[in-house]
Amino acid sequence: MKQEFTVLKTTNPKMKPDPDTLQFGTVFTDHMFIMDYSKEKGWYDGRIVPYGPIPLDPAAAVFHYAQEFFEGLKAYKTKDDRVLLFRPEMNEKRANLTAERLCIPPMPPGLMVKAIKALVSVERDWIPGKEGTSLYIRPFVIATEPFLGVREAHRYMFIIILSPVGPYYKEGLFPTKIFVENEYVRAVPGGTGNVKIGGNYAAALKSQEKAQGNGYSQVLWLDGVERKYVEEIGTSNAFFIIDGEIVTAPLSGTILPGITRDSVITLLKSWGEKVAEKRITIQEIYEAHAAGKLDEVFASGTAAVISPVGELCWQGKKIIVNNGEIGRISQKLYDELTAIQIGKREDPFDWTTEV
Ligand SMILES: *Cc1c(COP(=O)(O)O)cnc(C)c1O
Repeated sequence: MKQEFTVLKTTNPKMKPDPDTLQFGTVFTDHMFIMDYSKEKGWYDGRIVPYGPIPLDPAAAVFHYAQEFFEGLKAYKTKDDRVLLFRPEMNEKRANLTAERLCIPPMPPGLMVKAIKALVSVERDWIPGKEGTSLYIRPFVIATEPFLGVREAHRYMFIIILSPVGPYYKEGLFPTKIFVENEYVRAVPGGTGNVKIGGNYAAALKSQEKAQGNGYSQVLWLDGVERKYVEEIGTSNAFFIIDGEIVTAPLSGTILPGITRDSVITLLKSWGEKVAEKRITIQEIYEAHAAGKLDEVFASGTAAVISPVGELCWQGKKIIVNNGEIGRISQKLYDELTAIQIGKREDPFDWTTEV
């Protein structure tokens, strides 16, 4: 690949972590990508530099009005030592939609993918090869202009950092307990629920803390208007299998368009499964369970890929899903998706890109 970014190598490389004890997002590689934006120059000076703190003015807009967004994807090492990215062009597309929503200037087409590939190739040796591990990629943009007026900033930084990560659940797939959130909401029509911004996450912490305090691992969000319709599970998309039909919330503006969600729907349809993107109430899910028709519930997202749900608690009423076991479809999706991602199985949809 033509190198269009300057590279300044560290003189002080770190020790690589033990692949057996990797956690999520606690260890970072030797280098990072940085690019600046100014109103006069546009996006300029893309560079790979040693990983480290960045000086920012305390008045930088991001600290005050949260003009910030991020993305998340992974690089995988194959058995024959190739490096694969999973649908990175989808992250770039989503980043552009997010930027537009936050009045952040768009990046030239292809820039984000090119920058990811350049940084990942510099950090190739940081990609763990052990089954279930990968290199998590976190691109993000922050408003850096120092001013306290309320308007879009005129200066930004686009940064990419990398973190070697272990499997999300050490035991492999693992059915989680999910608390149905009835008090707080994540998104409303016309809000920012369909874009990947730090502000959404800050606003969700309270609810997550409450769920975890009650022994649940995540929350199931209901719609922000009637608090009836199921939307997402934590920071993942949610799927419900009722009497053989696989239902997920539609992309109507209040849920995040997950790349894993899109891949799950594509795979399921290719297997001839019945998939519906439609609104469904938590009441209907509880009724399906009472009728013995709630086959499986699972969440989808880059971090855990597929996460089966073993228990739901809504207004104090608990139900056990699929005897608290991993469902057939959840397992099959996990196996197929992870096999495609690490290049172990054929990639019929052309999802992976070699670095
Ligand atoms: C990132 C994210 C997802 C999952 O998206 P993927 O592209 O599949 O990783 C789902 N919901 C929310 C709120 C998210 O932030």
